Amino acid sequence: KLYNMVQDLKGNIRVFCRVRPILNSEMKGVIDYIGKDGSLFVLDPSKPQKDARKTFQFNQVFAPTATQDDVFRETQPLIRSVMDGYNVCIFAYGQTGSGKTYTMSGPPGRSATEMGINYLALNDLFLICDKRKDMMTVILDYISTLDIRTCSSEDDGLSLPDATMHSVNSTMDVLRLMEAGEVNRAVSSTSMNNRSSRSHSIFMVHVRGKDTSGGTIRSCLHLVDLAGSERVDKSEVTGDRLKEAQYINKSLSCLGDVIYALAQKNSHIPYRNSKLTLLLQDALGGQAKTLMFAHLSPEEDSFGETISTLKFAQRVS
Ligand code: ADP
Ligand code: MG
Repeated sequence: KLYNMVQDLKGNIRVFCRVRPILNSEMKGVIDYIGKDGSLFVLDPSKPQKDARKTFQFNQVFAPTATQDDVFRETQPLIRSVMDGYNVCIFAYGQTGSGKTYTMSGPPGRSATEMGINYLALNDLFLICDKRKDMMTVILDYISTLDIRTCSSEDDGLSLPDATMHSVNSTMDVLRLMEAGEVNRAVSSTSMNNRSSRSHSIFMVHVRGKDTSGGTIRSCLHLVDLAGSERVDKSEVTGDRLKEAQYINKSLSCLGDVIYALAQKNSHIPYRNSKLTLLLQDALGGQAKTLMFAHLSPEEDSFGETISTLKFAQRVS
């Protein structure tokens, strides 16, 4: 409850930045400093050293050494507020390869300590359900995994061909479903040119219950692994691939516009500009709480994308 009071004072939008380790040790990094106070320095490799440094500020920054547990610990209060009736949306944003799926799901073949937020969050919600049994009955209503298909048609309705709904009663159920979802993604990624980096993947968790005074709690937790935010080179892709890339860029910039409008407390929130924001409309805005993870690839050759991710994240924070 205290956390919620603090949140309400500070507004409902949070941005955490996570920097993954350098994967190829021959590469030079551009992240110069990560502060405990949420600050981050980046070095522009094209500038002389004295002018190279750019500073960014977030609610939290996670260094490459941060564990899944470190990240979850900072996210947990937000997730728990779902049990107090708040709608919560957590997004993973960043270029392909920056660690979005690592944060949300964990690495492929993950061990118990490498589980991502999706699993840890659901596990936590089930734990709370068990503890509160005598005073509240909360069921996680359903989960759906889905890709928002991009190039299929020009329709502006919400067609969600991959959506599946399931009732879940335990963390094991959830784990099985998540793994099934990832298998679907992996299969299509080989056949369809790395599909997962070009589709948004959303877990929707609906909570229904009663609070101590007999009032109804209806809330949801949306966990979103966004499509890669990288710009495409128009000279390299054509046809459907280009249309798809443009669609993704549009849906991500619409998401940025919506979060920005919410942060500014504008009276008009442009939900209708993309399928993604239309779908998440109920879970964004009002009393809802939003957390965006901005993921960074620290290598020098990702500098351009790193700056554009940081600018996107800074704008919505
Ligand atoms: P994305 O989903 O953004 O395309 P991934 O999550 O697939 O990126 O990460 C790309 C690679 O980097 C994977 O091999 C992943 O295991 C690794 N990786 C990402 N984040 C971390 C991290 N924090 N610690 C260790 N390895 C990471
Ligand atoms: Mg991914």
